[in-house]
Amino acid sequence: MRILVVEDEVQLADALSEILKRNKYFVDTVYDGIDGLDYALSGVYDCILLDIMLPKMNGLEVLRNLRQQKIKSSVIMLTAKSEIEDKITGLDGGADDYITKPFNTSELLARIRASTRRKGEIIDDNCITFKNLKLMKTSCSLVYNENDIKLSLKEYQIMELLISNPRQILPKERIIEKIWGYESDVEYNNIEVYISFLRKKISTMCSDIQIKTARGIGYSLEEVK
Ligand code: CA
Repeated sequence: MRILVVEDEVQLADALSEILKRNKYFVDTVYDGIDGLDYALSGVYDCILLDIMLPKMNGLEVLRNLRQQKIKSSVIMLTAKSEIEDKITGLDGGADDYITKPFNTSELLARIRASTRRKGEIIDDNCITFKNLKLMKTSCSLVYNENDIKLSLKEYQIMELLISNPRQILPKERIIEKIWGYESDVEYNNIEVYISFLRKKISTMCSDIQIKTARGIGYSLEEVK
């Protein structure tokens, strides 16, 4: 999962980014509202941690813009104690949650998990399923009935995208942005290689689920009919 941190207190922003990375999130960090809006409009983020008092454009305005542009990333506002009015405005304006600074790390992580838990068939924080296929986070593996198979980190990350959005075509461009980052220069054939590894692994385990190619666009996880 990819998270955007928009926070102008550099120390706090960098500390947050460190904590999130340690918890296996991909993180981009920006320090003002204009950059925040620019990055967020890419639509690649599962969750955006958005400070309210920001230089150039405040968090509420960033949020308003995002929702107007139909960006569906979940947004958690970072607020100071004195900003109760802003908190209400934020929730009314389409924020999913807010957390008051200074906050506790485990609380923040729990709120991120809760706000991103809406897609796919996520059973618990360690397991995402599609039909009988399970993707396990801590062991970085795929499980099907009695079989399990280890994945490399990149395979895991691509599989996480596919299984969280089953039967939806994921464009290659989107996969690159999500996994290698917004400004990466990774080529399409890198993804093709990982997809072929994943296909082999899936086909050795089960015959009724496959990664389908949408020619010229991308991939989707489907049941074999
Ligand atoms: Ca601030």
